[in-house]
Amino acid sequence: MNAELISVGTELLLGNIVNTNANYLSKKCAELGFSLYYQITVGDNEDRLNKVLAESLERSDVIILTGGLGPTEDDMTKEAVAHALHRELIMDEESKARIQSYFDFRKSAAGGSSDITNNNWKQALKIDGSIVVENDNGTAPGYIVEAAYQQEDPNKINKRIILLPGPPSEMKPMFDDHIIPYLRNLQENVLVSKMVKICGIGESKAETMILDMIDGQQNPTIAPYAKCAEVHFRVTALAKSEESAKKLLHPVIEELKKRFGLNIYTMDEEKTLEEVVVALLREKNLTLSSAESCTGGLLAGRIVNVSGASSVFKEGFITYSNEAKQKYLGVSGETLKQFGAVSEQTAYEMAQGTAAATGADITVAVTGIAGPDGGTEEKPVGLVYISCYYKGKVVVKECRMKGNREKIREQSVTKVLDLLRRCLLEA
Ligand code: ATP
Ligand code: MG
Repeated sequence: MNAELISVGTELLLGNIVNTNANYLSKKCAELGFSLYYQITVGDNEDRLNKVLAESLERSDVIILTGGLGPTEDDMTKEAVAHALHRELIMDEESKARIQSYFDFRKSAAGGSSDITNNNWKQALKIDGSIVVENDNGTAPGYIVEAAYQQEDPNKINKRIILLPGPPSEMKPMFDDHIIPYLRNLQENVLVSKMVKICGIGESKAETMILDMIDGQQNPTIAPYAKCAEVHFRVTALAKSEESAKKLLHPVIEELKKRFGLNIYTMDEEKTLEEVVVALLREKNLTLSSAESCTGGLLAGRIVNVSGASSVFKEGFITYSNEAKQKYLGVSGETLKQFGAVSEQTAYEMAQGTAAATGADITVAVTGIAGPDGGTEEKPVGLVYISCYYKGKVVVKECRMKGNREKIREQSVTKVLDLLRRCLLEA
């Protein structure tokens, strides 16, 4: 089945807001096995919305619209869909009652100040014959409209139009909880996929390592995604049932595990590298501290992004200058003078010094040249040393990266997290 997205909102066209809904829904459609051929953005304009809808109905089986379901004049999505399908808007008593109780609740919570205005009832109107989808996070419900579009037999449903509210905080849970089960039911086949996330091997090398698997693949398919200092492979199988799709996936996943081994840090789509690292620290009951030069806190930031990091992460230094490296981490002046701030020796002493200063079980450090200035022939931009201290031993790695300042700093953080992960696996 093919699907199409229509994002409604003049704000989107003006660039005032980013179309995160389209991004979210495209990914979900792909996961559900729908071929998404078009993404349209149209302003809050009745004529143009009508035109777009007429075209979409010609070519797509499933049309998902977001935005324009609210109570104001410029919210006209429902009206346009009703018009396109020659249907009426009728009052939905359940929605009406729900809106009433939502406002009653707000009124009591706000001490009696938020009354329903007349246009709020607009949100209780539904397209005749549509399925009303509850909104657990706002007042505007969503709708599923099944239509026998240009069919002689009115029972021959060939189009599904789905209307969702614009605010992502309402749209996402509504889609996940109510629309996904509906769409899944429409598909004869199910798609099941696994994401194999790899660190420590470059994209082209990783692809070369499985060229024979990618060549001539049909079902499952393997699709590579290059991320910042990571490579992800999505393995997808199509089958009549979830169980048989999983059966198809199994041997391919096992083969990838065999080839990439410890370079795979997770097979969980939602998991990040820092989450894996924090989980390992918790599992091994170890505390962590960090010292950063060129990444200037990005590393600590990514660790702290993980909820629960407080139980393992003690403190992080940003020691940007030579003086700071000496003052807080005890890096020797001699080392800095002889080898420089960006050197294996300095990275070594930074990790060691962080352990001495904080008493953490395991520490990491990073020092490098992020550019665009500061590079020399001997020490070019992108040269970064990362280190990890554990039980009196320090591992230092030299990395050479390409890209702009931002990219080099981001890659450096990923490399440190990966080094830490590997040290933890051994610990
Ligand atoms: P409301 O009841 O809030 O008016 P609505 O369904 O009418 O909801 P819109 O009025 O189109 O939706 O948009 C409301 C808000 O939702 C926008 O101001 C914007 O913050 C957010 N929004 C709308 N569309 C998108 C989108 N495609 N991507 C991200 N955010 C969006
Ligand atoms: Mg609105």
